[in-house]
Formats: sequence, structure tokens, C-alpha cells
Amino acid sequence: MTPRKTVKDYIRTIADFPHEGIMFRDVTTLFADPRGFRMCVDQMLHPYAGTRIDKVVGLEARGFILGGAIAHQLGTGFVPVRKKGKLPGSVISQGYQLEYGEAIVEVHDDAIQKGETVLIVDDLLATGGTAEAGIGLMQRLGADIVGCAFIIDLPELGGRRKIEALGMDVHVLCE
Ligand code: IMP
Repeated sequence: MTPRKTVKDYIRTIADFPHEGIMFRDVTTLFADPRGFRMCVDQMLHPYAGTRIDKVVGLEARGFILGGAIAHQLGTGFVPVRKKGKLPGSVISQGYQLEYGEAIVEVHDDAIQKGETVLIVDDLLATGGTAEAGIGLMQRLGADIVGCAFIIDLPELGGRRKIEALGMDVHVLCE
């Protein structure tokens, strides 16, 4: 019998994207596979069985694909954290450092009610800057963050340590 494929088996690596020297972990092959996608959503949720989650918060852009599926599975609402200038309503903004320069993410200021429990999701944790900004936005809205779930962690970039140092529960499916 051939061994059952794991989530990691569905992810491909593309060299030199978006810049030379970068090994890009591409999850579109995971999302495109019916078994792979379902396995991924199920495994991302596994540690939170029995935990109250009021909203799933997805980080742009692959966090939207995951977050929508996870929210549907849980029967909860979904909240997008978007790059600056994309959301139509009144927003709060949070800046964070990129390798070169700064980026800003935003969320609608009425997307979460104070005390609501949220699960933050994205495809990949690298330096942790994006997730930290998402956490900052949620904390400013008074959300109770039950965890941060990712498909992939790149351990050499230290994101997991950074997010755990903020007191967050971090769940990753593979490194
Ligand atoms: P960080 O802010 O350095 O942790 O970078 C994480 C963000 O960059 C996430 O939103 C990811 O979607 C994106 N990202 C960085 N590297 C990759 C990659 O190799 N594959 C897919 N997304 C990536």
C-alpha cells in the first residue's frame, strides 16, 4: 500500500520567486487538491475542537481562502485583514516591518465586538511580522485570540518564537 499523502506532500517549492534566491512555498497545489485541501482545513482546526470561536480572521491573501473554508466548517463569521486601502468602511491600521521598508494592514473597526473569540489564520509564518500586525489589530478591537494557525512555519526566520513571545498559541501543520 502506498503511504497516505501528508499536507506537506501537496505543497510545491518554486525557486527564485518573487526574487532570485527565494524558495517560494506554493500552496495553490494543496488548495487545488480535494483531499489535500480538506485535510489541511481539518488539521488546522484540530487543536481547537471544543473551543469557542466567534470569528475566523484571515490575513491577505491566502488566509482568505483558508479562513473562508475554516469559518464555513465552524459555522462562524469570517473577517479579512487586508493591505492598506482595500477595505471600504472605517478601519484601524497597523504598520509592520518588511525586509525592505514597511507595510500596513487594516481591518474594519466594527468587524469584531469586544470580547469575541477569534482564530487568526494564514498560509505561512516567516518572520512573523504579518501575523504580529494582525494580532495587534485584533487586540486593539478587544478580541480574545484563541490561537494563530498556519500551514507552514519557516523556523529559521523566527516567526513562531516572536508570536509565542506575545503569549499566543501557535499551531502549524509543517515546517
Ligand atoms: P512574515 O510576515 O515574514 O511572517 O511573512 C508571512 C507572509 O508572507 C504571509 O502572509 C505569507 O503568505 C507570505 N509569504 C512569505 N513567504 C512565502 C512563501 O514562501 N510562500 C507563501 N507565502 C509566503
